[in-house]
Amino acid sequence: MQAVSELYDLGKPIDISKLVSSIDYFKNVRGAELAQATFDGFGFQVFPNGLLRVVYLDHEDPSACLPKVVAKIAQALVDMGKALGLGLDASAVLATHTKEEANAKHYSSLPAVKKGGVSYRLFPHIHLASLELKGAFATKRLMELVGSELGRCAVEQARPQSLDELLTALKKFFSEMKLGELECEKTKKGLFVARVYGCAYTACPQIGEPYCHLEKELLRSAVIHFMGAFNITVQETKCWGLGDTYCEFEASMLAK
Ligand SMILES: [Zn+2]
Repeated sequence: MQAVSELYDLGKPIDISKLVSSIDYFKNVRGAELAQATFDGFGFQVFPNGLLRVVYLDHEDPSACLPKVVAKIAQALVDMGKALGLGLDASAVLATHTKEEANAKHYSSLPAVKKGGVSYRLFPHIHLASLELKGAFATKRLMELVGSELGRCAVEQARPQSLDELLTALKKFFSEMKLGELECEKTKKGLFVARVYGCAYTACPQIGEPYCHLEKELLRSAVIHFMGAFNITVQETKCWGLGDTYCEFEASMLAK
């Protein structure tokens, strides 16, 4: 599957903590060893092995953005050259431009960006292999079925008595299952907004749609089993697949 994002190779390993501490527009990404810079309509992700990924944040037409992207890369290379003492040749770096692929083979070539358990690496591999083998619809259903079962388990294990207890139980469940660091906030209108930092799809390429069908359905199923009501909807509004560096889910109740 063709990704939206693009890659450039700086040709040198990059010290991420030094990069973030010396250039103010590069920020740490929570739960991942990479740096993120955000500009108007697009962003950069810099990996420790020297890969620079361009993501499109407003889903603009990437080709329309290209002159701005090239100018920013050239500027970033000058800044990184000075701050990190590296000789980075802009024309050589720009010549390495490639479109990303969202498949298991490509994913294997990305650097490990987080210390994590087995599920961290295994789970996106299964997802991407299923995408190739079975296509998007079957893959989404597969991940949703797993998520649905896990959501039921989470509620049956913890037996929460209130929405606060449910959210605490889900945070613990995500941590134990190595699905990432979950933070929830109750909302006035809906039920809650949940953010996941360092999720299993951390550093996966931008594909123009969210990856986290399993997590989304896990949250939905947990609320369904807790409330005993089926009119629950969960939307994933931010995701690595959309070019973000964390995932965000909005849970709400539909009118009956
Ligand atoms: Zn996601």
